[in-house]
Amino acid sequence: MPMTVHRYHRQTLLEGIGKEGQERLRSASVLVAGVGALGCAVADHLVRAGIGHLRLIDRDLVEPTNLQRQCLFAEDDLGSPKAIAAANRLQAINHDVQLEAVVDDLRPAVAHDMVDRCDAIADGLDNFATRFLLNDLSVKFGLPYAYGGAVGYEGTSAFLRPSPLHRQRLVTREISEAESGPCLRCLVPATPPAHLTPTCDTAGVLSPVIAVIAGLQAAALIQYLAQSAEPLPHVLTRFDARAMRMHQLDISQSQREDCSTCNKGRFAALESDHGSQATTICGRDLIQLLPPEPQPTDLDALHKRLSAHGSFERLPFLLRGTLQDELDQAKQPVGLTVFPDGRVFVHGTLDATRARAIESRWLGG
Ligand SMILES: [Zn+2]
Repeated sequence: MPMTVHRYHRQTLLEGIGKEGQERLRSASVLVAGVGALGCAVADHLVRAGIGHLRLIDRDLVEPTNLQRQCLFAEDDLGSPKAIAAANRLQAINHDVQLEAVVDDLRPAVAHDMVDRCDAIADGLDNFATRFLLNDLSVKFGLPYAYGGAVGYEGTSAFLRPSPLHRQRLVTREISEAESGPCLRCLVPATPPAHLTPTCDTAGVLSPVIAVIAGLQAAALIQYLAQSAEPLPHVLTRFDARAMRMHQLDISQSQREDCSTCNKGRFAALESDHGSQATTICGRDLIQLLPPEPQPTDLDALHKRLSAHGSFERLPFLLRGTLQDELDQAKQPVGLTVFPDGRVFVHGTLDATRARAIESRWLGG
């Protein structure tokens, strides 16, 4: 028996999937946005289920603190770009799946390319600013959006299928008006202020909560893409590990008439200049600086230049090292990581102004 038939046997046995559903999964493509804890776990389920193509995007590198919960990474991956390390692991799990790793920040300039030929979006993000970008893509292109978030002992998930009212592209599996429900902005109209939003950095996160939430996201995506049985209900599910309880909120009537995205068709996140901002990265003592547009950077030339001012090493996808004349508050040398598209991590500071000054001083940006 061919491996491809054999390996999916327990899944094709399921009523509502069968061989036809399995074939639909094989021809499906999913964007996994963010390959942290949720992204790793969702991608693992999708690849084992035989989704034909996954595009993984993440801007970050594997850190020791990731290993507690990010299930695709091992100690050997420390320092590697997450998207690459995850794709390598996933390919070893299932050689039939086509994997595309993108080491970049999910931002307006690259957003449209990220959903090219995709049938659905899986949320592995840690901030609402970028989730609104996914939501804009979901509404604009009629793509279901498996929302997920987890922090502390709690996690939340919802499988959002927006109204086709403003859809600008034909998709393989259309969301009908009857099947549609609220978009993310109907539920969360604006980005919550930072001081009200605990992060994995400030509050920690229990690894099994990730598994529960990612399981809900993947269960919805697999059933939707296999076109199994009845449409899934519109519910927001919250899991509380301390109470060992699931709470469900019916959101079938939560579509807002004043929603700027799914009702008015305005895609504010896609049209913003988010790409020029300096951002902190969850759990990391660093500032990321993004050029307004990708700026192809010659890392070899930069390596030569910076080596005169510190200790730098050139890795396949980046240049990184420390500057001997720039000290952080602990009097340790400030670190720099430079990517081929012009993105820069300034390590050892959470002050965007100082980070920009360091960039300007050493990289001429
Ligand atoms: Zn909406």
